[in-house]
Amino acid sequence: MTPQTDIDTTRKAFQADLAVVETEEGLQTVRDRYLSRKRGAIAALMKSMADADPVDRPALGKEANALKQEIEQAITEKREAITASTHPIGGIDVTLPGRELSFGRRHPLTLIREQVVSLFEAMGFEILQGPQGEDDYHNFEALNMPVDHPARDMQDTFYLEGSMPASDPSEPPATLLRTHTSGMQIRYMESHEPPVRIIAPGLVYRRDTPDLTHSPMFMQVEGLLVGEGITMADLKGTLVSFLRAFFDADTRVEFRPSFFPYTEPSAEVFISCVFCDGHGCAVCKETGWLEILGCGMVHPAVFEAVGYDPERYTGWAFGLGIDRVALLKYRVEDIRLFYSNDLRLLEQFPQ
Ligand SMILES: [Zn+2]
Repeated sequence: MTPQTDIDTTRKAFQADLAVVETEEGLQTVRDRYLSRKRGAIAALMKSMADADPVDRPALGKEANALKQEIEQAITEKREAITASTHPIGGIDVTLPGRELSFGRRHPLTLIREQVVSLFEAMGFEILQGPQGEDDYHNFEALNMPVDHPARDMQDTFYLEGSMPASDPSEPPATLLRTHTSGMQIRYMESHEPPVRIIAPGLVYRRDTPDLTHSPMFMQVEGLLVGEGITMADLKGTLVSFLRAFFDADTRVEFRPSFFPYTEPSAEVFISCVFCDGHGCAVCKETGWLEILGCGMVHPAVFEAVGYDPERYTGWAFGLGIDRVALLKYRVEDIRLFYSNDLRLLEQFPQ
């Protein structure tokens, strides 16, 4: 066979081989058969040039090179055709199942806080944020709990080692983690004249042993209203409206006498059990009632501490546990679940 015949035969053989290729692997085999540097048909052709007539060599070499390029081009085109048929759109297989995107969600305590805040906002209350590291004066003393007051024992406090700089440099450094949001009452009244209408949501801390209903960190909402001629009837009206808007229009609300150092008189507020509608169940311990918040008329000593005239102004305050409300509203059985960052729980709350 002459080199010219070899070139023609190789071209025909390649075209026949390429025509039946359907896969990437098959194409690779064909490519190796013709273009492999050592064993490929083109390499063999080039080698056979040595036997050709020296006069014909340049033309034959040119033709063999042209065939090589032709084969490379044909393989590239075939590869694109195979890719396009197995991955129809730009290499993406649209028949594969989609990957689900995970969306962020608001934490159940955030949801409850937002619901509480928006109900009070609608009643004209201003929303406040304050420092979690607090000093003794704002957390206790100004709230009618001087050092050695027995009521301090009701709130087991986390004291800070050393002290943290206060949020306002003109104030004493923070020495404890606030045990309630009531310090915000003092902070606001120190710098504002009545009338006052605020609510302050935030995290608070107590040295409680964690169990089903206790966590060393939990969330409270503080409410305070001060003005002239404010009475206990205003307190009851506001809280009953709030509780019925929040839970259910038929919710029954009961105020029972209680004690807090910073309010006088003080009350604990109970609502008819949301689980059994007051008939008695395990959650309400068969009483039909659930304790929901603490409240009362602001103690005159608190007004004196912030420079308000207790003869002229009266007011009321309340403190509501967001976690407790979330436990009841979402029927979660263990408060610790709210702080466990378990997505299986956190993904369940309607946003
Ligand atoms: Zn019940």
